[in-house]
Amino acid sequence: MHTKMENQTRDDKEWENAVNYHREQDIILQALICYAEFINRSKRVLVEREEIDSHLNEVDDLIVKLTLELLPITIKSNNCLIRETCPLCGHHERPETPEWAFVNDRPICFQCFEKHAPDLYEQVCARNAKAYEEYQERHPVEASEDSLPF
Ligand SMILES: [Zn+2]
Repeated sequence: MHTKMENQTRDDKEWENAVNYHREQDIILQALICYAEFINRSKRVLVEREEIDSHLNEVDDLIVKLTLELLPITIKSNNCLIRETCPLCGHHERPETPEWAFVNDRPICFQCFEKHAPDLYEQVCARNAKAYEEYQERHPVEASEDSLPF
């Protein structure tokens, strides 16, 4: 038989357990709500990221277009010894050819040259190939990719 005191203690214990259980459930619920908000925010960022990438591509295209209007591609003898970044796209590339395309005295990369001046690209490539053949005829033994004078 339980005394009144024992019953009271047992009721208090049950009450305390119920409160703790409720607290734990509440913490889990709050954590799940935060997690759901995080997922929703991440989804929004991903969608916005695609939009931002699209805007960035448009802006990059405009920058290249205006750059080429202000500083047109010029063909000249390629005496660059330093590896520079392409002024149009930022790639690192140093074409090792007798002639090349420059923008603002900086060599542009193969991709940009072909993309922005396809006709000139074909002409310069043909001239460079011819120069390479002539060099091979003059120096049949030494001619290789490593021993070119340009
Ligand atoms: Zn480029």
